[in-house]
Amino acid sequence: MTSAATVAFVHHGCPKNLVDAEVMGGILHEAGYQVIDDPDCSDVVIINTCGFIEDAKKESLDEIFLHLQTRSSHLVVSGCLAQRYADELRREIPELRALIGVDQIDQIAEAVRQVTGGDTYIPEPSASSPQPYDASRRFRSTPRHFGYVRIAQGCSRTCSFCAIPLIRGPYRSKDPELVRSEVEALVHDGAREVVLIAQDTTEYGADGREYPRLPELLESLSSAHPKTWFRLMYAHPDGITSELLQVISDRDNVCSYLDIPLQHVSPPVLRRMGRRGDPRRVQSLLEWIRREVPDVSIRTSLIVGHPGEGSEEFDELLGFVRRAPIDHTGIFSFSREEGTRAAEMPDQVSGSERRSRYNRLRQAAERQSREVKQRLVGRVLPALVDGHEDGSWLARHHGQAPEIDGYIYLPDGALEQGQRVQVEITGADAVDLWGALCDEERNKSP
Ligand code: SF4
Repeated sequence: MTSAATVAFVHHGCPKNLVDAEVMGGILHEAGYQVIDDPDCSDVVIINTCGFIEDAKKESLDEIFLHLQTRSSHLVVSGCLAQRYADELRREIPELRALIGVDQIDQIAEAVRQVTGGDTYIPEPSASSPQPYDASRRFRSTPRHFGYVRIAQGCSRTCSFCAIPLIRGPYRSKDPELVRSEVEALVHDGAREVVLIAQDTTEYGADGREYPRLPELLESLSSAHPKTWFRLMYAHPDGITSELLQVISDRDNVCSYLDIPLQHVSPPVLRRMGRRGDPRRVQSLLEWIRREVPDVSIRTSLIVGHPGEGSEEFDELLGFVRRAPIDHTGIFSFSREEGTRAAEMPDQVSGSERRSRYNRLRQAAERQSREVKQRLVGRVLPALVDGHEDGSWLARHHGQAPEIDGYIYLPDGALEQGQRVQVEITGADAVDLWGALCDEERNKSP
């Protein structure tokens, strides 16, 4: 096989993993490979796996077995699962010929070269976590009008349930010059929205380097690109400062949006999780954010069934979800991850109890989200056209992050992907909104 071989990615996991896949795509492209969308038609398939929680691991493993049936000799497994379980994968699936962990993505072209030559490529794990890489020459997989910029790697917090620090190492902020050049490259390539991501974006610059902190970084990026929306994801509740809220509130092109993974609100559960807080503190945090950024939309994620969550603690969480004005809530059932402190804790919650609590919490969160979204009906909001589906245009306003927070459905008409429009909200359910273009928009050509 020559260097004109085609390579396709099968992606699993979060946007952080997606950026890794895009960077690997860029490396392969520069090495002369042709990166294509369709794994059924490519010479080599790279499965970029997720190893975060049980369900995600199972999905990634199912994908590996599916592709092994047809491609065992031209398959590369990369991503979190390959990093976390390299030895187990090698032992249990001897047909696997190439494994690339998250610390080894710079070796992807060599891995592809070896498997296409009939060889095996499973490098030894790196002795230390490498510094964040330059992602400005990536092979984009999101639509042109938005893109992700990962501002840091790893996490140095010690949440008892979380395997991320075991997989991705300690927190390392990316050099701000690299962040600037990645944003520059995305904007140059047509991005009208840049989403800043990390395991915890609020820790940016706090890891002993002479880098700006997050508010300063956000301020400088949004000033340099005044026509681009900037959105912040994964903001740890302890890292939200008045300086950060000030930048979000002052700058029109910083989305009035905060994604704050609260995980729980009951003090005994939070202590076991290695986190701080109680319902009153969370309530005042949310009220403070809404005072400082009046139009803010808030996303959170919660875990049900952490060890030590009795019915009283669960009821406290349920009561909070029923009251809190949160726009989007992601709910996860606790997953017992080997190597984490929570996996070894006493008072584990049974699987059936976790499922039942998950369903009750999800229903409460849906009711609450519907109510919060109903408050937008009648408002006129700027929106970005995201795509077209089944005869409707899909758009998003400041309060909806790409790929997770639902859409505004608009009637068919002369719009185009990436266009900015003014939309009047006419309806809402728990996830999505419906809208109509404002009059002057209807008369504009795209
Ligand atoms: S802050 Fe997030 S990524 Fe870091 S340990 Fe806690 S849950 Fe995991």
